[in-house]
Order: sequence, then structure tokens, then C-alpha cells
Amino acid sequence: MGKIRFASVWLGGCSGCHMSFLDLDEWLIDLAELVEVVYSPIADAKVFPSNVDVTLIEGAVCNEDNLEVLHTIRERSRLLVSFGDCAVTGNVPAMRNPLGDVDPILQVVYVEAADAQGQYPVESGVVPPLLPRVRPVHECVRVDAFISGCPPSADRIKAALEAIVAGETPHLTGSQLKAG
Ligand code: SF4
Repeated sequence: MGKIRFASVWLGGCSGCHMSFLDLDEWLIDLAELVEVVYSPIADAKVFPSNVDVTLIEGAVCNEDNLEVLHTIRERSRLLVSFGDCAVTGNVPAMRNPLGDVDPILQVVYVEAADAQGQYPVESGVVPPLLPRVRPVHECVRVDAFISGCPPSADRIKAALEAIVAGETPHLTGSQLKAG
């Protein structure tokens, strides 16, 4: 059997979930025997490839670019995992949702609170427009498994990945859910 084609993606998140992934320490060496990393913020691939076996998604869906990328990833991934609370619930990025429309928020943050020369971060084709509200991944595409936590502990990530490399869909319960 060939190696599992593995990807991880960072949408609207802080990278903390990926940092927790790196906390797997020496178990990453065991994992590297079983998976081929075909796309990740910690790899150098520029284009999300086809025929990916499993993709971990860190972060919420915050802007139009996140949404477009996510649909491509869903089409090209057999197993899609919401990785961390921002992906699972919206979490920190979704704190803007109760504040209402995007424009007044941008006005306060980038214009009124600016020390000098405040302006909106607008550049067509460069700065993706924000979505009206931040959404968890499962609101936008089908999700096969969830790894909660902010960030999920390395133990919890390991429990999920052990199921994946065994050919199972991870379903974390009991102490696995409490870890971290
Ligand atoms: Fe960062 Fe927590 Fe969101 Fe992970 S779940 S991206 S650690 S804020």
C-alpha cells in the first residue's frame, strides 16, 4: 500500500493548531513513514493537488479567498477534517459576527483607530474581501471529522491521525476529547 497523501491548510486561524501539530515531536518521524505531505504551510507546494487522501483545515472561513480555496480542497480531498475550534465553530475570528456589518468594523479598526493615514485594506486581486460573517468550515462544505480544541492538544491530534492512518474516520470521544 502506498503512502497516504496528506495535506493541511491554514484559513482564518492563528497557526496555533499547526504549532500543536508540531508538538507531536518524535511521533512525526513515525508519521512520515506512513504519509506523504503533498500540501501544507510547513511544505513548499504552491497549488493544492488532486487526489488527496486527508486534509486538515485550520481556521474559519473569513473571506472570499478562504471560501474559494475551501471548495477546491473539498473537491480534491477524500477525507476533510475540521482542525481546531476556529474551523469547528468559528471561534476567535467569529467574534466579529455579533458586531454586524463588515464596513463599520473596518472603519473603526483601519480608519478611526489608525495613528496616521487610516485607510481600508482594499486592493482588487490582492486583498480578498471579507465575508459578511465568519463561518465554520462545515457550514460551507461537507466535513468528515472534527478535532476540537484551541489548539487541540498533540495527544488529541495523534489520536485522530492514528485512526486516519489505520484507514478509519476519526471520531474522538471520552479521554481523547478531554485531552488538551
Ligand atoms: Fe489559533 Fe485556537 Fe484558532 Fe487554532 S483554534 S487557529 S490555536 S485561535
